[in-house]
Amino acid sequence: MAIRRPTPIKLTANQSKSLQKQLSNQPTTRSAPKSSDPNFPVFEIPVNKRVLVYVPNHVVMDANGEPTLRMDEPLLHAVQDGKRFMYIRCTKDAFLKDEDGNDVLDANGKPLFDGTCPLCDGTDVPWDLANLTIKQKCSKMNLDPEDRNNNTVKGIRSAAFSGRVLKEANKYLTFPIVVIETENDEGRVPKMDENNNLIAHPMWYHISESQYNEKWLSTLEGLEDEPTHPGGHFFVLNYTYDTKGKDANKRDSAKNLKVIGKTIKKSEKLRQAFDKMTEDWTPEKAMEVVVSNQAYTVSDLTDIADKLLEQPRDMIALLQAAESTGKDVSTGDGFNLVPPEDSGRAALEDGMKKGSTAVAQMDETDEDDADGSADDDLDLSL
Ligand SMILES: [Zn+2]
Repeated sequence: MAIRRPTPIKLTANQSKSLQKQLSNQPTTRSAPKSSDPNFPVFEIPVNKRVLVYVPNHVVMDANGEPTLRMDEPLLHAVQDGKRFMYIRCTKDAFLKDEDGNDVLDANGKPLFDGTCPLCDGTDVPWDLANLTIKQKCSKMNLDPEDRNNNTVKGIRSAAFSGRVLKEANKYLTFPIVVIETENDEGRVPKMDENNNLIAHPMWYHISESQYNEKWLSTLEGLEDEPTHPGGHFFVLNYTYDTKGKDANKRDSAKNLKVIGKTIKKSEKLRQAFDKMTEDWTPEKAMEVVVSNQAYTVSDLTDIADKLLEQPRDMIALLQAAESTGKDVSTGDGFNLVPPEDSGRAALEDGMKKGSTAVAQMDETDEDDADGSADDDLDLSL
């Protein structure tokens, strides 16, 4: 099965320069539908632009009786299948009962939800593999895997931890915004159509809770009326940043987001119109159409977890065997322990397609975790 390595092409200095530049700046993300309903699109992080938005004022009371923005608040597991990244909703503590209080059952007579989450239950396996990998790599290089001051060790640790195929669930927030088109995407002067009306599109805004707290809450505190939620206000989402001569990208745009409150005078009617426009954009609708927020049954998640963890389990067994026999299972660089990128993918997709047609789109979901899940990696490389 080994592929034969072709002879590298010979290029002129200029060609080489051009190609090198292009091949160093390929987008690592593929654009893909994040919503299963084109009438309810998901806002895409714009690269190095400013966007004028209105947050519709749909409010509910929280547990303390305080008004809070109505939103879907899914716990999402980041999952890596080969080179593909996706998010899958956690089912921990969820139950579904019929009118008589009995569990709602699937075709096989199993409860759709039973309070467990097979993905939560599976998170130990990738941790174990990461730790074993770190130990093996460090021992081969005569490094102490616990030496956190050593940059090589740090690199090995962070690569192993961020390569986990299944991570603990993180909280995300999903609510509607109205994006108002502006001249040159500067977020300043609204564009008008031929009837002199604003051009505005409702979209789902999706952000990790930690990023929301960092990017939005401080802005709200700085506003004149110190609102506890952004509903009923206009904002400029400023994704521009100093690219230091490099091409701008989505991840850094998201990282550099600044949320700026904007007062628009005499906007009462406009705000009411936007609120009305987004009445149907409920948390239930978000769970229905936003691909990462969709809910799958416990038995679907069991299949997904089994397929995802098959290879890590095999690799753990290999590494443990190598450890106990003192033999090196790798050929020297450890690369043959890395699973072929796409193996298992078909199996995983099969498992995922079983439950819902919407799941099929999930394998196309790109790694749009720039808006938050970078912190997945950060807290692991401590
Ligand atoms: Zn879970």
